[in-house]
Amino acid sequence: MHEMSIATSILDAANREALLHPGSRVTKVGLRIGEWAGVDPASLQFCFDALVAGTESQPPSLDIDFRLRQNRCPDCGNIFAPKDYQIECPGCGAAVTEPAGGSELELAYVELEEP
Ligand SMILES: [Zn+2]
Repeated sequence: MHEMSIATSILDAANREALLHPGSRVTKVGLRIGEWAGVDPASLQFCFDALVAGTESQPPSLDIDFRLRQNRCPDCGNIFAPKDYQIECPGCGAAVTEPAGGSELELAYVELEEP
């Protein structure tokens, strides 16, 4: 499953971070997901929870920051959130606008608990 491999790499990255601080453990992982990233946040949350369940007495939690997609109008510079695949600019009516955000899939932060 797509989300399972993403959850695995998130956890790997968080654990690598913890290795830099000997004795620490990961308590929380923050992740930014854009609407265009093609990832289902609920499913990712489920996979993450399944991965960490039973690994420790206090497994780390996952904090997902879901970003809606945004488009930018090359004519007037307007940035807006397209709805239902309507990408024309609500400001000036230009028919073609370009994606300006909402496709991110990145680790935002890792929270560690020092011993
Ligand atoms: Zn415009």
